[in-house]
Amino acid sequence: MVDLRGIHKSFGTLEVLKGVTLEVEQGQVVVVLGPSGSGKSTLLRTINHLEKVDRGYVSIDGDLLGYRRVGDKLHELKEREILKQRTHIGFVFQNFNLFPHLTVLENVAEAPLSAQRKQKKEVHQEAVRLLARVGLSDKENAYPRQLSGGQQQRVAIARALALSPKLLLFDEPTSALDPELVGEVLDVIKDLASTGTTMIVVTHEIGFAREVADRVVFMDDGVIVEQGSPTTVLDHPQHPRTRAFLSKVL
Ligand code: ADP
Ligand code: MG
Repeated sequence: MVDLRGIHKSFGTLEVLKGVTLEVEQGQVVVVLGPSGSGKSTLLRTINHLEKVDRGYVSIDGDLLGYRRVGDKLHELKEREILKQRTHIGFVFQNFNLFPHLTVLENVAEAPLSAQRKQKKEVHQEAVRLLARVGLSDKENAYPRQLSGGQQQRVAIARALALSPKLLLFDEPTSALDPELVGEVLDVIKDLASTGTTMIVVTHEIGFAREVADRVVFMDDGVIVEQGSPTTVLDHPQHPRTRAFLSKVL
């Protein structure tokens, strides 16, 4: 589903990704761990084409991101076509990023209405179904500011699901939440994982990684230092940098 090859990305003279190669199979849950500044968000943003890579390539379900293959030549896609590719990828941010002036239901319905030209009734029915799935049926007409952080993040997850993405990306989805609200959001993500959604989750929640991840990836300083099953990486880390990181978060 996801094929990243030799991704390099710099901001000015700062090289943030130094050759990242990562594959994710359909239905797999990959948890990415790593210290602050190691390049985790930048990596997710390249997968969603919010950042253009300097070198290497990103392929999602066989489609090369940002390009179209014509014969043996690659043509760069136009902005509009890139937006279309992006609709196959759902992104959940640390700070929810809901539209403050739209109700919960309107937040979830916004992308399908503007991107897919579907009937309003059909889109609203689907939004109602998605809100039920994240346990927020009673909040359809509320505005984001009237919700707790955990509820807002669950709306953001419903919104990310609204375009039936092939892949879901989560960037520290619980790190802006009060501790007592973390569980309700992780429960929704676990539920999605159990229904075979392909996802990459950046998080510091080690318990979640242990329980849900098919694979744990440890990043540091722009490279993947090691990866493997949760037991392998969390209980028997091979690399000193992984050990040092885990000793701080466990
Ligand atoms: P992480 O998510 O692991 O904390 P990030 O990917 O956010 O790491 O950032 C990695 C490094 O790249 C940091 O040093 C950060 O300051 C830098 N960085 C990220 N985005 C930008 C940007 N748009 N411009 C300049 N530097 C950036
Ligand atoms: Mg980050």
